[in-house]
Amino acid sequence: MTDLKDATRAPDWQDDVRHGVRHVRDLASLPLSPAERQAAQEAAALHKVRAPKAYLDLIDWNDPTDPIRAQVIPSPDELVETEGELGDPIADHEFSPVPRLTHRHADRVLLFPTYQCAVYCRFCFRKESLTSIGRGYTREALEPALAYIADHPEIREVILTGGDPLSLPDKALAEIRARIEAIPHVRLLRIHTRVPVVLPSRITSGLVEALQGRLMVTVVTHFNHAREITDATETACRTMRQAGFVLLNQSVLLKGVNDSVEVLEELCRELMYRLGVKPYYLHHGDLARGMAHRRTTIAQGQALVEALRARLSGICNPVYVLDLPEGGGKVPLGPCPIEGRDGDSWQIRGLDGAVRTYREIVSE
Ligand SMILES: *Cc1c(COP(=O)(O)O)cnc(C)c1O
Ligand code: SF4
Repeated sequence: MTDLKDATRAPDWQDDVRHGVRHVRDLASLPLSPAERQAAQEAAALHKVRAPKAYLDLIDWNDPTDPIRAQVIPSPDELVETEGELGDPIADHEFSPVPRLTHRHADRVLLFPTYQCAVYCRFCFRKESLTSIGRGYTREALEPALAYIADHPEIREVILTGGDPLSLPDKALAEIRARIEAIPHVRLLRIHTRVPVVLPSRITSGLVEALQGRLMVTVVTHFNHAREITDATETACRTMRQAGFVLLNQSVLLKGVNDSVEVLEELCRELMYRLGVKPYYLHHGDLARGMAHRRTTIAQGQALVEALRARLSGICNPVYVLDLPEGGGKVPLGPCPIEGRDGDSWQIRGLDGAVRTYREIVSE
């Protein structure tokens, strides 16, 4: 909370924060029936509640199954834990050699400058790291992680995640960027954020300037539904593109939110054609606790991406991945088009469903 409050004056986005939901008790200000409000308040027991006004304004309150509402208003289903669900579904902690850093792949690390967010998504796989203690940004807290990066010349990419790094003030972002770019072997700064989606007014010229410097900057946004794409998010993405940032998007496949070909097709197309944001990953639901009601089966996900593949251009297609438990990493789950093989002769299913033969012809 202090992260957002301490920032330099920027009335637009501060109003969005101030007039949004910042605490469970603010749910009382929303047009929910008394029964719905009570259910949401009870369901908030395990994960904080927060959403800026700009995002809440996208909700159609007459529709109890509204896809924006489903992402931010707590549901009693969250209290239903199923055996096999995990507190740390992708083993961030196991691969954390120093506080606030996860190093699982040689050339890139996750760096956690804050564990606070501008929005608390109900499906968040890190919700149990976020709710433990209010751990915001301090320069001292990042020292061990920065020293670790400096000591490991194989690290080329630093991924700011969290929490939401863009919930920090410009000054903190500039400080973090300067510390990272001073490490000569680091080439690229990547930022994983929901701020351009839920608080687009926060993407100011001051914010992009704070991130500009020696490093290539990639911003990975997190849009899950075409309804989140608005004039305001378009402006935010234009600001970042004009600053020279590469924009990618990751979505989470969520039952009742975006688990239909039509919804995903429109989302991916509008991301690329309207926002200039390349769909990067579509994540299959991880095993975060209390999320069985939002997961699809893998077979359902495969059918969806197979249909998308046939409908959308190559650049509009995300890669369907599952981040495996125990730190197995993100593996592609798309259906395999190889039907069989006989020596150098491969039987491969085409986009029209027909199987064709491809014979390998290579010189000795
Ligand atoms: C997701 C993730 C990354 C980034 O993976 P990419 O496939 O490069 O997007 C890096 N490290 C960890 C630990 C991750 O979970
Ligand atoms: S913004 Fe990201 S880290 Fe924060 S609650 Fe949403 S999914 Fe989790």
